Amino acid sequence: MLGWREFLRHVYRQEMPDLAEANQLGANEALPDFYWDGDTDMACLSDVVDGVRQRGYSHHIERLMILANFGLIYGVEPAQLNRWFHAGYVDAFHWVTTPNVVEMGLYGAGVFATKPYASSANYVDKMSDYCSGCPYYKTKTTGDGACPFNALYWDFLDRNEDTLRSNHRMGLMYSHVDNKDDEELAEIRERAEEIRKMAEAGEL
Ligand code: SF4
Repeated sequence: MLGWREFLRHVYRQEMPDLAEANQLGANEALPDFYWDGDTDMACLSDVVDGVRQRGYSHHIERLMILANFGLIYGVEPAQLNRWFHAGYVDAFHWVTTPNVVEMGLYGAGVFATKPYASSANYVDKMSDYCSGCPYYKTKTTGDGACPFNALYWDFLDRNEDTLRSNHRMGLMYSHVDNKDDEELAEIRERAEEIRKMAEAGEL
């Protein structure tokens, strides 16, 4: 019987050096600056990044479902977020951090993750109390003040449809995508682009 760390050690030995640069979804966005300085209005990311800056540590769920999830749906290049985790965490060792970030967090290689762990504000709200104190609206997807996680989540599913729709674990997610008409999807793409521009300008 293997524990998670023993399993990751095995994956690392099998899959390196390719794993560190794996990018099966072709994500090529730069890591937003707020990962370094915590300067964002998004209450969840601001607090979690501040915690990493102060302690060099955060809980697994904060790593996977806030930091990596945002990177995944935003389209950050996996190697860039991996380097950030190595710079920020006191427990970052290449053999355990790289499989967790590149594969589990960003679905970079498909060597053991069976689906991407993408989620919208709905999950963040269920797992934390951040949304109630956030200036973004957790239930809005487009329009002024809409939570960035929402448009980015749908845009992630939309732009990676060719790769992900055939994954049986993604069936429920794509059934929700199918409920959206062309006009709604166009608004989501527009909002996702606006969010990336805001992040680049330090205004997110
Ligand atoms: S509303 Fe969105 S940005 Fe704000 S805390 Fe919730 S998930 Fe994070």
